[in-house]
Formats: sequence, structure tokens, C-alpha cells
Amino acid sequence: MSALLKSSRSRRLAFLLAVLAFLPLTPAQAAPPELPDQIAAAWRSDRLYVDAAMRPGFPQAELTRIRSAASSAGFPVYVALIPRTPYTRQERLDLPTLLQARVGEPGLYLVWTASDSYWSGTAKLVRPAGLAGRNLTRVQLDDKLDNKIVNDRPAPKIVRTIQQAGTAYDGRPLPEIPVGDLTPERTRSGPSTQDKEDLSAYVGMGTGGLISFVVVLTLVLRRRRPGRAAGSPKARASVEPRLAPVRTQADRWIPKAGRALRSLEKRRNLTTEQLDLRDDATARLAAARTLRTGEGVDDRAGGTAGDRTARAPDLLALTGAFVLARQAFQLASGNDLQPPCFFDPTHPSGTQLAAWSDDTEVPACKTCAETVQRGKTPHGLQVKAKTGLFGGGLVPYWTLDPEESPMVATGFGALSDDLAERVTRVYRGVR
Ligand SMILES: [Zn+2]
Repeated sequence: MSALLKSSRSRRLAFLLAVLAFLPLTPAQAAPPELPDQIAAAWRSDRLYVDAAMRPGFPQAELTRIRSAASSAGFPVYVALIPRTPYTRQERLDLPTLLQARVGEPGLYLVWTASDSYWSGTAKLVRPAGLAGRNLTRVQLDDKLDNKIVNDRPAPKIVRTIQQAGTAYDGRPLPEIPVGDLTPERTRSGPSTQDKEDLSAYVGMGTGGLISFVVVLTLVLRRRRPGRAAGSPKARASVEPRLAPVRTQADRWIPKAGRALRSLEKRRNLTTEQLDLRDDATARLAAARTLRTGEGVDDRAGGTAGDRTARAPDLLALTGAFVLARQAFQLASGNDLQPPCFFDPTHPSGTQLAAWSDDTEVPACKTCAETVQRGKTPHGLQVKAKTGLFGGGLVPYWTLDPEESPMVATGFGALSDDLAERVTRVYRGVR
């Protein structure tokens, strides 16, 4: 039981904002704190737990698929399907770990939550003592189509996670993903109204909910601050002078994270959890370096700020490099991983949650959270608008097309904690 693996934080945060379609959800109320006890007790008779409020009308086919995958896994699989509530989405709440502690058995622990039209989940694989294997997160990262799995119903991703855990467990090959479980592929021919409408289906490739969230957030912003949401025309100054301080920050944190990582690597007898942290830190630092050097940048990856020349990293890339390096340092030095402030990632980490609307919260620094609390919109990280009403002026970065940059699409990792993966994918693909 010493061997324990956490699913990537990305999956936890990535779907923090996710929402579910076919379930009539009432439970906006906070789940009782004894929820882990209830689930653990229910698992004694059935390892597939469905929240009572969700049971009526729950699609049996989904449950059948999950049961079938679980029964052929070769290790115990515990699944809980519950609504997303303020309780279950607490950032620090690690339900699989709490549940595993109650059950006390090795196995795969899956907690999937839903609200509105999306499912999201957290997984924890606990091996029998002494058994080694691959890191579940690594297996998931290597699973190229993993982020294209639909999340409008729970079974596809849960079944895949069980299969990935099997591969992590004993190296068995991953089966093919059924076509019906994948987001439909589309061919691109420039953005159109249809594209905009289908943004979530196609840009996000599995994190579509987040992308559309950014779009929604933008709309919310504009509604909340009419005439103030975008940069004022007087702000036509070049972005260039503002690159220097961010570049300095990136250049300070990248070596700092590198040193912390090297000293972690030198230690002997790292626990599996520390190895996990090390891998995560390594991936973030590598992505930070990629962004800093601008290597492999192409038009698609370069961002829409319009201030990018040749292969020089732009404000989005430098800020992304800084954010990822700071996170790599946090992980390598044994500190808690913090999301950035959504509004301006160059601010202190997003240790607060700022409520944008009734059901939308974003990580924010203390100052920005207080601004939101007062019903105002933080100034935000300003970038050059490429086109549109404010062409040439400065606008908050979140008003850019999320499709153009992984930094925009993920809110620099504040909306979905998979910035490093996306950067690696987008930039490495064109080397
Ligand atoms: Zn802030």
C-alpha cells in the first residue's frame, strides 16, 4: 500500500469547471462532510456507487460499461459517481485519497463528478505493497487520444482510466478507444460561425467545457462591465516594453526550478509520490523552457497578441514560462502546487477562488479576488488585440481566441491544469 499514484492534477483541475447534461441535478447544496463515509460504506456491497439523487433515470448502459471494465481489470476498482457540489470541488479535497484511507485496500479509486453537461474525475491507483509499475499519469500522457475522449457521459473516460491503470499496473497494452467515445474530428478551413458554435466540440478535444467556459467568461465580463471590459483605445502603446519584466521573472524561476529539481533528483529512496511530483515538475519545467526559447513555435502556437516577431516568445509565452517554472519549483521543493491568478498570471498565485457568476469560480490572487468581490473586473493581463473592435489596442488576454494559444485556452493553467501538456503537444508537434 506504500505505492500510491495520483492521477494528474490536471484532471482534477481540468474538469473543475465541467458541467453534466442528462441528469436533473438538484443538489447545489453542499454535500455533507460524511460523504466519504457514505461512499465507503456503500462500496462494501457494490463497488459502483451512484449518488442517490442521480439514480433515477441514470443511463443503465453507462453503468454496465463501467462494471464490465471494472470486472475485467484484474484489480479492485472502486467508482463513485456524484454531483459536483461546492464540497466535492474544493480544491484541496482529494476524495480518492480519503476514500482509499477508509477502505484500506489496494485498488483503483475513481471519483467522477458531474454538473450540467460534463463529467470530470480524479483517479488514484494504489498497488499492493511491494508492487512496482508505471506512473498512471505518465500512461495517461502517453495515451495520445486520451484528451479526445468525450466527457458528456461518464463511461468513456472511466473505462479508459481503468484501462490506463491496467497498463500502469502490469504493462499490458492499451486497447483501442471506440470511435464513439472520441470527440469527432474536424477539418479546419478558417474560423467560421459554425466553428465558434462548435468551439467546445473541436478546439478543446476533451476539455471543450473549459474552452467554452472561457468564451462564456468573456461574455460575462463584457456584460458585467459594459464598455470597460476591453482595453481603452488610449492603451495603444506597444506591448514590447512590458515583455522585459516577465522575461526577467521567467529567467529567474526557470533556473530556480532546475536547481530544486536537481536536488530532488539527487535524493535517494524517493517515495512513489515524490517520484510523481518529480515527473510533474520535470514536465512543467520542460514546457516552461520550450515557451521561453520559443522553439518549435508556429502560427497556431504563437498566440494572437500580434506582437510576436519571428520566433521570439511573446508576452503569452513568457508569462506561461514563468507560471510553469514557478509551479515546477513549488512541486520540486515540496510546496503545494498553486494555480496562477486567472486574471493576471504574473500576480501572486491564485490562492483564492473568485466567483464570477453564480456557478463559475476562478483561482485569483488576493487583490483580484477582492476586486471581484466588489463586483468589479480586475484589469487583467493586457495583450494586443489582433483584430476586431479593439484591433491594435490592449485587451485582457482572456478575450483572445482560446484556439490560438494553450495559454489562453487554459487561463495559463488556472482553468485547466494541463498547460504543460498542451504546450508540449502544440510546440513539439512542429519541431
Ligand atoms: Zn491577480
